Amino acid sequence: PLVLAIESSCDETAVALLQGEPGQPAHILASEIASQIELHRVYGGVVPELASRNHSLHLRPLVEQALSHAGVRLAEIDTFAATSGPGLASSLLIGATAAKALAAAARRPFIAINHLEGHLLSPFVELGHVPPHLALIVSGGHTLLLDVAGPGRYQKLGSTRDDAAGEAFDKVAKMLGLPYPGGPEIEKAAATGNPAAFDFPRSMMKEPGFDFSFSGLKTAVLYTLTDRQPATGQVQIGDLPDLCASFQQAVIDVLLRKSLAAARHAGRQTLALSGGVSLNRTLRGQFEQACLQEDLALHTASPGLCTDNAAMIGFAGLLRTFENRFSPLDSPIDPNLPLTLA
Ligand code: ATP
Ligand code: FE
Ligand code: MG
Repeated sequence: PLVLAIESSCDETAVALLQGEPGQPAHILASEIASQIELHRVYGGVVPELASRNHSLHLRPLVEQALSHAGVRLAEIDTFAATSGPGLASSLLIGATAAKALAAAARRPFIAINHLEGHLLSPFVELGHVPPHLALIVSGGHTLLLDVAGPGRYQKLGSTRDDAAGEAFDKVAKMLGLPYPGGPEIEKAAATGNPAAFDFPRSMMKEPGFDFSFSGLKTAVLYTLTDRQPATGQVQIGDLPDLCASFQQAVIDVLLRKSLAAARHAGRQTLALSGGVSLNRTLRGQFEQACLQEDLALHTASPGLCTDNAAMIGFAGLLRTFENRFSPLDSPIDPNLPLTLA
């Protein structure tokens, strides 16, 4: 089957076309993104009104672009998938309504996809199926550990009590005067820094369970900064790489140790990493090394599938298409859509 997928949960408008058969690697025929990062950068974050206006401007050209890149006609598409939550209501509405309209016009089924399920399944596009595994989603808005028995069978083991990992990267970057989004900037600055230069806290490491907390770490960085430069709060240029490397390592330590413990707890031999923070090469390297030592298979999403994209929504849509599990045309968007009730 052939799936057209639309993602518009936040500040990226994206359209993808995927083709696949059960148990076979999925083919991404097109994956188009109109990024709004530059547009929102001047505000230091995402402005909802600006985001939804730009989704409606970009969506139709992106659909046409995806079809022409893939050499596919609208009439050939079997199902139409769109993100229905979580995300910004006014942004979700644009993509979901467009996908429903296309589905209605083509007389084909519509499939509502949870954005987090898109991230969750993104490491398995090349494999084409989802083995039992322990999943860590580390994105701009979420830090989630899930025990995955198979597609649609998710049990939450832990999540953040305050900031998401990506959010912590973004907030610390802002404190350091680095542009939004902060993750890639911190990674760049950290490359020449000493990760042991500052002894930042590893929160919730002693507590039982698999929850995270990153706000204490953020505050620790802030105190270090104001200690150093009481007058301006500006970082001395020599400190920046060390600060970034030490902060980054504190985040990675917690993510890695909790993920390994959760895999052991759930009895899983496979670990999967997804979401924008999983682009971080130091994090990837340390997960690879640890999984090798612990005899765990590691699956990571390919770089184009880590931050928001429609291919991951298309893959989730493809798996649902295999099972003939469709959504009614009046199914709602939900800004707070949970991934599991567990
Ligand atoms: P959610 O899916 O939870 O709603 P989101 O989709 O906005 O959030 P993503 O697009 O998956 O999140 O990821 C964006 C986040 O990833 C940002 O916080 C960004 O700073 C972070 N990020 C991107 N690249 C890196 C990197 N190299 N190192 C660390 N963090 C990174
Ligand atoms: Fe996302
Ligand atoms: Mg994003």
